[in-house]
Amino acid sequence: MRIDKLLSNSGFGSRKEVKLLLKGKAVEVNGETVRDPKFHVDENVDDVSVAGEPVVYREFIYIMMNKPPGVVSATEDRFDETVIDLLTEDEQRFEPFPVGRLDKDTEGLLLITNDGKLAHELLSPKKHVDKTYYAKIDSPVMDEDIEAFKQGVVLDDGYETKPAQLHILQSEEESEIELIITEGKFHQVKRMFESIGKQVVYLKRLSMGPLELDKKLELGEYRELTEQELSKLK
Ligand code: URA
Repeated sequence: MRIDKLLSNSGFGSRKEVKLLLKGKAVEVNGETVRDPKFHVDENVDDVSVAGEPVVYREFIYIMMNKPPGVVSATEDRFDETVIDLLTEDEQRFEPFPVGRLDKDTEGLLLITNDGKLAHELLSPKKHVDKTYYAKIDSPVMDEDIEAFKQGVVLDDGYETKPAQLHILQSEEESEIELIITEGKFHQVKRMFESIGKQVVYLKRLSMGPLELDKKLELGEYRELTEQELSKLK
C-alpha cells in the first residue's frame, strides 16, 4: 500500500497533511527517510515510523451506530445525509460502509465497517443471521399473527418468508412487538405486516446476530466495537 494511505489510515491526518510530514523528512521506512507519497510499503513487514515513533497500522474499523431517522444507510446520496456523513474525517478515511440497509425512517443498530469479508458473512442468506426488531403497529396484533409469521407469510411480490418469531409486548389500539427474522429482504418487516393488513408506524433494530445495540447510545451516536463484540461476530 502507498505510504500516504497507510499514514492517513493510522491517524496522521489527510493525504495532504501526510504529504507535508513526508516532505519534512519525518517519515522513515526500515530506517530510511521516505519523502515520496507513492512509496509502497508492506504494512505487515516494513517498519514505519514518524518522528522516531513506530506506526501501528490498522486495516479495519468496526463501528456500532444507533442510526437516527432521516439519514440513509448508504455511503453516498445525492439528496440525503448518509450514516457515513455522521462519522469524523479520520473514520471516513477507512472508507467504511454500512452492513446492510435500514430504511431512512428506521432507527437502531447499524454496523459500519470496511471489513468486506465480515459484511459478506453477516449478509449472506446462507448464514441466516438473526435480526431483532422492535416495532409499533397501527392496530392490535393477535396470537394468530404469531402463528402466521411462524408459518411464513407471502409478501406483495409473491415471496414467502422464512419462519419468524413474533413476540407481542402490548396489543392495544397501537401495539408493540418484537420480531426476529433471519432474512433481509427489502422493507421486510413493513411488508410482513402489510401482508396481514397492518402498518408498521415505528421501527428500530435491536440486534444483529450476537451484536446488540448499546442502550447508552443516543440516536445518531456511535462507538467502535469492543474486542469482545468483535470476537463474537467473527
Ligand atoms: N425491515 C423494514 O421494513 N425496514 C427496515 O429498515 C429493516 C427491516
